Amino acid sequence: MAGHPQEWGRRVYWAAPLSAIAAGPFVKRHRLGSVLALSFAATAVVVAATVSLLLGEMASDHSRRRIAQELEELASQLRDRLDSGLGERLHDMQLIAAMERAGEPSPRRGAERFVLESLKTSFSQYAWIGFADIDGQVLHATGGMLEGVNVSERPWYQGGLQGPFVGDVHEAKLLAKLLPAPASGEPLRFVDVAAPVIGPDGTVEGVLGAHLSWEWAHHVVQSTFRIAGKTRGMETFILSRDGKVLLAPPGKEKETMPDLGGASSRIARWSDGHPYLTATSVSTGFGNDYHGLGWQVVVRQPVEAAFQPIRQLQWAILLGGAVAALIFAVLGMWLARVLAKPLLELASAADRLRHGEHDVRIPDANQYREAARLSASLRHLVASLTNKSAKLAALNASLEEQVHDRTEMLDRANQHLLGTLQEREMLVQRLEELANTDSLTGLLNRRAFFERADQERRHAERGGTSLAAIALDIDFFKRVNDQHGHAVGDQVLQALARTCHLTLREVDLIARFGGEEFILLLPDASLADGIRVAERLRQAIAALRIPLPDTMLGITVSLGVAVHRHGLALDALLTQADHALYAAKRNGRNRVEYLPEEMAGQDAASG
Ligand code: GH3
Ligand code: MG
Ligand code: MG
Repeated sequence: MAGHPQEWGRRVYWAAPLSAIAAGPFVKRHRLGSVLALSFAATAVVVAATVSLLLGEMASDHSRRRIAQELEELASQLRDRLDSGLGERLHDMQLIAAMERAGEPSPRRGAERFVLESLKTSFSQYAWIGFADIDGQVLHATGGMLEGVNVSERPWYQGGLQGPFVGDVHEAKLLAKLLPAPASGEPLRFVDVAAPVIGPDGTVEGVLGAHLSWEWAHHVVQSTFRIAGKTRGMETFILSRDGKVLLAPPGKEKETMPDLGGASSRIARWSDGHPYLTATSVSTGFGNDYHGLGWQVVVRQPVEAAFQPIRQLQWAILLGGAVAALIFAVLGMWLARVLAKPLLELASAADRLRHGEHDVRIPDANQYREAARLSASLRHLVASLTNKSAKLAALNASLEEQVHDRTEMLDRANQHLLGTLQEREMLVQRLEELANTDSLTGLLNRRAFFERADQERRHAERGGTSLAAIALDIDFFKRVNDQHGHAVGDQVLQALARTCHLTLREVDLIARFGGEEFILLLPDASLADGIRVAERLRQAIAALRIPLPDTMLGITVSLGVAVHRHGLALDALLTQADHALYAAKRNGRNRVEYLPEEMAGQDAASG
């Protein structure tokens, strides 16, 4: 018994979900394992999908902000580095100018050039550094370039006379021919920094100025990205205060930046038709003397590339959800197995009981409370049923016995009743016979004769048939009695009755009317029939011999015949037969006389 459910478990738990899916949800009742596994898995899928969706949404929202912030950060880093770069260069100028003021070293040609050369070496992007006197004449410059040239018209000189000056990007003019063109093929461009040189007496002696190669900005961008470490499609633009493109990736100088609506970052469609996550930062200057050129540093990144981490995150969450669904499905199967095991064991026990097996033990299912309760209920049920069935069997047996006994009793009573009834019937019959017959001869007595004779008369009346009556009287019977005794007389009467029976038909009525007088009634017989029968009877009786001890006794009879006519009463018919009998006595006895038909219905006394 223990092996059965385990077998079931092995076979079913892994096959059930597949079969459940194949069979469809409503075709048949599914196993608990399939149901739980499927519902767990479905729940897990739904939860995982929802969570991944929500989480994805939340995470992507957060990540979007973070990514945008990173881009903003990058833009402001770039701006800071550009600002600080220019600020430091201005500071360089101010420092050297201040040295001039201190008179150390004195502005002698050789020493001056030496200072400027060392400064240029300290920062590779200096293209040119020079000092012009109050007339605008370049006194000394790095590489001796432009020495002796008047620069009083150049903006940096004029700005520098006023105070610390930073000039916006411009193409090289005087130096274009003297310096090598940049490797990028772009025209040689400079950013200028300049500071006034003020003498010990406080008067402006000239202007110290430097041209910073615009390549410097490219270097700043590259190094910033190198430090940031991730550049997935990131591109940098620097726009002047009036929106002119100062720096752009190669070939993209013509692109125009979309309006960000005042935001520092936003997804916006650029003039190339693609959407970019775009961050911007405006230059604000550096230190006390550099207040910025109003540059706008713009960093952009294709949206796809920018938000790639979000997509990765969503996939990761989805994958996690799928794994969770799988785990839950397996968990569901395991749980179903645990839940179903005791139920199956109970069901198997119940089945065995149903098939009539005895001594089936209901297993103690104590895996969980409900199963334990079911098991206990089943045990009680079986106990109570067993008890009831035993009682029922006993009752049945006793009932059968009772039924058997009662049946036997009834049979006996029936038998008895039947016997009694038969006896009774015989008795009644016998009584009837006694009531209807003459005890000596067994012939009908007078009363019985009248009953039946009347039926015959009515029958003859209805059917229009004839009915003959014969009156019979023994001749000189008194002599028989006298000569041979009364007993012999009785013997003669009995012999005569037998002869009558033998001679007449079954349907004829034979009655002893008293003494040695007899009446015979012949249904369906005419007068001629009656006369014929009377004659035959007369002869039969005359031939009769009654054996006596010393002799044989013979007797004769006289007979009178009459026939029924319509409307004639029975009494009248018998009287007519009687009259004929008297006639036979009168005419010599041992003969038959009859009342002629034409006389029937007349007064018999006249015959
Ligand atoms: P007949 O009729 O020829 O004129 O002469 P009879 O001798 O027969 O005359 P009757 O009819 O008067 O006599 C009848 C006798 O029959 C009288 C009686 O002794 C006798 N008898 C009547 N009933 C019985 C009976 O039951 N048994 C015997 N043994 N004799 C009877
Ligand atoms: Mg007589
Ligand atoms: Mg008589």
